Amino acid sequence: MSVLYKANMVRGAEWATFFAERAPELPFRLWPDIGDPSEIRYLVAWVPPDDIATMFPNLELVFSVGAGVDQFDATKVPTHIPLVRMLEPGIAETMVEYVTMSVLALHRDLLHFIAQQKEQVWREIRITPAKRRRVGVMGLGQLGQAALERLKAFEFPLLGWNRSPREIKGVTCYAGADALPEFLAQADILVCLLPLTDETRGILNADLFARLPRGASLVNVGRGPHLVEADFLAALDSGALSGAILDVTDPEPLPAGHPFWGHPRILLTPHNASMTTPDTAVDYVLDVIARHRRGEELPGRVDRTRGY
Ligand code: NDP
Repeated sequence: MSVLYKANMVRGAEWATFFAERAPELPFRLWPDIGDPSEIRYLVAWVPPDDIATMFPNLELVFSVGAGVDQFDATKVPTHIPLVRMLEPGIAETMVEYVTMSVLALHRDLLHFIAQQKEQVWREIRITPAKRRRVGVMGLGQLGQAALERLKAFEFPLLGWNRSPREIKGVTCYAGADALPEFLAQADILVCLLPLTDETRGILNADLFARLPRGASLVNVGRGPHLVEADFLAALDSGALSGAILDVTDPEPLPAGHPFWGHPRILLTPHNASMTTPDTAVDYVLDVIARHRRGEELPGRVDRTRGY
């Protein structure tokens, strides 16, 4: 009975060390050194091999090494095998840092100051108090809620929008498509923390940008295909949007010469907002394996019909 890891190899070596310390009885293998395929019970992968069903006849659980599962072709994972995403605390902590950094950067006009510095311009910008800058988060799951919790410290009026209703102290919550326009009309800084599904692909489009307060700004930490590029560039050009911080693009990496690279009102990071932390991820995976063996509910189990 063994665990196979198929993702970033540098971090894989760290996973191996933690597994050896915390579960020495459970052999841990790093792709492509799979050993006897019939021994593999648990697979931890960013993208699993295509022929997973035939390759590992005794597979019991598949973990996505990330919080999202859109990079998986779930049809390749037999339905009797639970697909589990990473709910380890390291992802949430690093995401909270990134969202906080981005919201503060947009709130305090950092993109303007970067542009001014390039031109050797020394010009102050009037500061808007946080109490007058409304921050709206799309997607109130583990990451959206964690980000909002931290943002409370700055006294921004906080809003959230989600598929199903949520109640979060200190956050005005909206649910469902009908409530989206009311939510958007108040979001001076919009943060996308949605999973990528058939319903959310292309949600950051011209209609959405037109519903935001004029000059609003955007943080996309969901997935690149949430954003309709042409609509987004048009919204920046027209002033509907004043700036954006994008951690995700489509494709990744962006090709040379892509208009986002040199755009003065876009700050790009290379899908680096958060990262699975091997130390805490190994504890999470071992906990899920233990629950699975006891026949319990699995935290982070993906609902395949919803796609997240
Ligand atoms: P969760 O599954 O915990 O939360 C997703 C939330 O989005 C849920 O509350 C869900 O609503 C809501 N949602 C889903 N579909 C819709 C919809 N159509 N309309 C409105 N709300 C919807 O996910 P996480 O918080 O863990 O992660 C969110 C996403 O963040 C990931 O899927 C991934 O794309 C992205 N991510 C990006 C990273 C990066 O480094 N850039 C790192 C990690 C994640 P409901 O409560 O009804 O289910």
